[in-house]
Amino acid sequence: MALNLVLMGLPGAGKGTQAEKIIKEFAIPHISTGDIFREAMANETAMGLEAKKFIDKGELVPDEVTVGIVKDRLAQPDTKDGFMLDGFPRTLVQANALDEILAELNKPLTAVINFDVEPELLADRLLARGRADDTPATIKNRLEVNIKMNTPLIDFYNGKGLLHTVDGARDIDVVFADTQEILKSL
Ligand code: AMP
Repeated sequence: MALNLVLMGLPGAGKGTQAEKIIKEFAIPHISTGDIFREAMANETAMGLEAKKFIDKGELVPDEVTVGIVKDRLAQPDTKDGFMLDGFPRTLVQANALDEILAELNKPLTAVINFDVEPELLADRLLARGRADDTPATIKNRLEVNIKMNTPLIDFYNGKGLLHTVDGARDIDVVFADTQEILKSL
C-alpha cells in the first residue's frame, strides 16, 4: 500500500530530523514546499521571483501559487508508492485543496504525523540553536503565529481520523522508533 503522508510540527519540534530518517527507511519522495521555493529562488524562475516577494517579508506565499506547485509535484510518477509532504498544508484552504488534488489523483492520505512538543520546551530548543534571529522575543512570536496556524489543521485531520501524534520531546531515536511503529501499522 502507498504511504501518503503529511508531517506536522512546530519550529524546533524535530520534524526535519524525523523527515530525514523516514525517507531513508521508507524511500518515498520528501516534498518540502520551503525547499521547492528556495530552489526556484536560487534558479530565479518566474515562480521563484514571485515567491521571493512574500518569503523575504516572512509572509506565506499565496495559496494559489503554493497549491499549484504541490499539485504538479504530486502528479509526478515518483509519488506512486507514496510521498511525504513537509511544510504543506499550512492553511485550511491548502488542506481542502490537498483533499481535492488527492481525490483527483486517487491517492488518499494514509496518515498525518504530528510531532508534539510543548511550546515552552520549543522556545528553549530554538534559543539553544543560537541563530541571530532567534532572540526570546522573535521566538515567542514565531511560536505564537505557528500555533495559531497549526491548531485548526490538527483539528481538521483529527476529525478525519488521520492524525497520529508522537511525543517529540524525547530522544531523537525514541521518537523515531514510535514513528516507525505508527508507519508500519498503517
Ligand atoms: P519553510 O522552509 O517550510 O519554513 O518555508 C520557508 C518559507 O516558504 C515560508 O516562510 C513561507 O514564506 C514559504 N512557504 C513554505 N511552505 C508554504 C506553504 N505551504 N504556504 C505558504 N507559504 C509557504
